[in-house]
Amino acid sequence: MTILPPVRKLTIVAKDPGLRIGGTGPMVFAQVDVPAEILAPGPTGYRIKVVDYNATERRAYADRKRYQDQLELLDPFVPGAGETLDDPGYQARVLADPNFHSQNCYAIAMRTLGLFERALGRRVSWSSGGHQLHVAPHAFALANAFYSEADRALMFGYFFDSEGKPIFTALSHDIVAHETTHAVLDGLRSRYTEPSGPDQSAFHEGLADIVAILSIFSLREVVAAGLGKPPRLPGPGEPMMLIAAEGVTAHAIRHSILLGIGAEIGLTSGAGRGALRQSVRIRPDPEILDRPHMAEPHNRGEVLVAATMHAFVELWTGRIAQLGTFRDSTYNLAAVVDEGVKAASQLLQMAIRALDYCPPTDIDFGQFLAAMLTADRELVPDDSRFGYRGTVKASFAAFGIVPPVGQCDAEGCWPRFDRADQLTYARSNAEAMTRDVDESFRFLWENRDALSISEHGYTEVVSVDPSLRVDPDGIPFRETICQYIQMAHFFGAELQTLLRIKPLPEGFTTRTSADLFGGGVIIFDQYGRVKYHIANCLVDGPRQRRRLEYLRDTGQLRGRRDDARSRFANLHLARMED
Ligand SMILES: [Zn+2]
Repeated sequence: MTILPPVRKLTIVAKDPGLRIGGTGPMVFAQVDVPAEILAPGPTGYRIKVVDYNATERRAYADRKRYQDQLELLDPFVPGAGETLDDPGYQARVLADPNFHSQNCYAIAMRTLGLFERALGRRVSWSSGGHQLHVAPHAFALANAFYSEADRALMFGYFFDSEGKPIFTALSHDIVAHETTHAVLDGLRSRYTEPSGPDQSAFHEGLADIVAILSIFSLREVVAAGLGKPPRLPGPGEPMMLIAAEGVTAHAIRHSILLGIGAEIGLTSGAGRGALRQSVRIRPDPEILDRPHMAEPHNRGEVLVAATMHAFVELWTGRIAQLGTFRDSTYNLAAVVDEGVKAASQLLQMAIRALDYCPPTDIDFGQFLAAMLTADRELVPDDSRFGYRGTVKASFAAFGIVPPVGQCDAEGCWPRFDRADQLTYARSNAEAMTRDVDESFRFLWENRDALSISEHGYTEVVSVDPSLRVDPDGIPFRETICQYIQMAHFFGAELQTLLRIKPLPEGFTTRTSADLFGGGVIIFDQYGRVKYHIANCLVDGPRQRRRLEYLRDTGQLRGRRDDARSRFANLHLARMED
């Protein structure tokens, strides 16, 4: 019988080729945990299939590495005898091997998917419906990387710097994690790529950067190197390394580690993305989202990143303050790094869990914040030790992001469903409702009045997902998340009669038509009772008017949904060329 350990180690570039020990020394490599599986060439596993075809050169690179010997799992790029991960000779040899770029993509994509699955307490599907997402580590000779829904693939390009040296986007942790997050988010919330208000496309970019950046903090090597220290921290029994207290204040962290690791590959050639670097520079300003240049999705997404990173620095320094100092005002470096790892991991889990509490269409930043606070309160009612929710709420408010006014409770959370007495459960099978979209739809349709779900338009339950998490006391916490969407193609006349949009927005006539979206999530508790109903109603005149005016002003009203392939490609190309 085959018995595999739960995880295996694989070597990756810890952040990207730009992060170097001591600023100019060797690059920072790391050996990371990846779910253990017997890999086919590629590497190809149960969720990721690396296909190393270069469309520019019309050439495929064969994978000749061995990832296992019988049942012993191997890391083909482990340093040889007498070598370490920091040896320049070892690094040069590994970096020149295209198979290493493939392994780097595979490992980071699997780790990113794993973050979502752990936080949500279930398997997460790709939006394409297939099991294996394709990954092309040398897709084309272009300074671009993107997720292509049509190809079910992540495409990573490469380009040449001013000295003619190739720069591979496949070697950047940020870029691989960012693109993988687009693919995962598209699987969870496929309607977030529809034209909507200013926040929705910004949200895709912002969340992809938040996941990319916070997940880097799980690598202790990167945190240590970012603090200007050697990446290999002392092990048990080795002498402690110290760091001065003034090196880990909020100000110092922002200016050393965040800006330091914010330097990204390709910046020298002017083709870098540098999202972290930019978002760290955004100063708190409650009116920032109203500024004209913040209508652009990347700029706007960076405000969401800035608010999250602001919260991260507050949480990390709060945790450091609870550590003991030595007489000369120094901290144990390993303990400081560990607190950063914990703060980043918890904040990232909060952000990911929030997705289950976000409406499936027309998301805005305030709703995401309310979802983050609500999901966290459900799992961790007592937040008094480190005050995560208060810190997140205050940090977001400093960037003008507040829970939807008039829709949330005093803590900024979504209110519990309060019309339970009007619901009928008698005709639904509670057990079937937790896994069957038709049974859930029957419940939803029979209770449409109590749930305020409109009869107009097309309504579909798109997913019913169990979520099993373990609370801080170790007790399993079970919910079912039922996601439904509503769509309608309405003419101006219907906007007037059904949605009471009177007068019609400027530029609209009774014969102008547009696609409208709505929908919600119903969170069932462990007894199958409705706990939350979080929705953007289809028939909501003021909301739909705001969206239509925004689409009109940004020229998106006539255009149908873009080809999914070109949408992300163009978004990212625009950013690379910034
Ligand atoms: Zn992106």
